[in-house]
Amino acid sequence: MSVIKIKSNQRVKLAEIDPEDTGGLEKQAAKGILAKNIERLAELQEVLYAEGKHALLVVLQAMDAGGKDGTIRSIMSGVNPQGVSVTSFKAPTAEELAHDFLWRVHKPVPPRGMIGIFNRSHYEDVLVVRVKNLVPKAIWQPRYDHINNFEQLLVDSGVTILKFYLHISKEEQKKRLQSRLDQPEKHWKFNPADLGERERWDDYMQAFEDVFEKCSTKTAPWYIIPANKKWYRNVLISETIIKTLESLDMKFPEPAADLDKIVLK
Ligand code: AMP
Ligand code: MG
Repeated sequence: MSVIKIKSNQRVKLAEIDPEDTGGLEKQAAKGILAKNIERLAELQEVLYAEGKHALLVVLQAMDAGGKDGTIRSIMSGVNPQGVSVTSFKAPTAEELAHDFLWRVHKPVPPRGMIGIFNRSHYEDVLVVRVKNLVPKAIWQPRYDHINNFEQLLVDSGVTILKFYLHISKEEQKKRLQSRLDQPEKHWKFNPADLGERERWDDYMQAFEDVFEKCSTKTAPWYIIPANKKWYRNVLISETIIKTLESLDMKFPEPAADLDKIVLK
């Protein structure tokens, strides 16, 4: 079982990565691993908060019905809600469009001590924007460099960045969209506009491949997560977050005074 971490300037072909992959893991075993990971993540989040030196930014990108919401719901189910912020990026407002494309992204970046999750992100500005020609190429092309510079600024300021692409097949997307049509309690999730995006599937794959090649850096890498099986996706992402947090070697701060000399009356 291993995640696919993209190296700087590495060109990946998404068609060659199997979204059905389960790394030889069984669903039952995966559920046990996830339960432990959720507990471990809660412990790590508490030290992150107490120490207050690092921030963790998790970026989630995927096609529609790719599992971004479900990932957040299950992986973060054990952590203290006070220590986590989730930001969902929608089509920009008129005010946001009147600024540079990173203006709306900078503020929700988590401060030190916090975990921040981006459900979609600044990468939409080189994905949907590019695929649907929302701005000319002369505008979106320089954005890869702007993104790399922006992320480097964050890294230099104590933010650890993990970027996950949830890789589902076009067939799996069809199944998931169909279940949104079939189940009344899922109707609210069905957006007819998603069908237009689905028709542009191949253009999106190309735009994603360019993102991975240009914006996977040593300090802010992209990970490709085989995501047809939700339980495998959850294990891979939780493990990657845990390993990353463990590598920060965080510690609870020293107490302010000699606590063993304090007597409560
Ligand atoms: P959802 O994630 O289903 O709530 O949908 C959010 C929608 O907002 C998606 O269709 C995205 O493509 C769109 N969106 C997010 N960011 C941007 C952006 N920067 N420019 C245009 N559309 C965007
Ligand atoms: Mg949607």
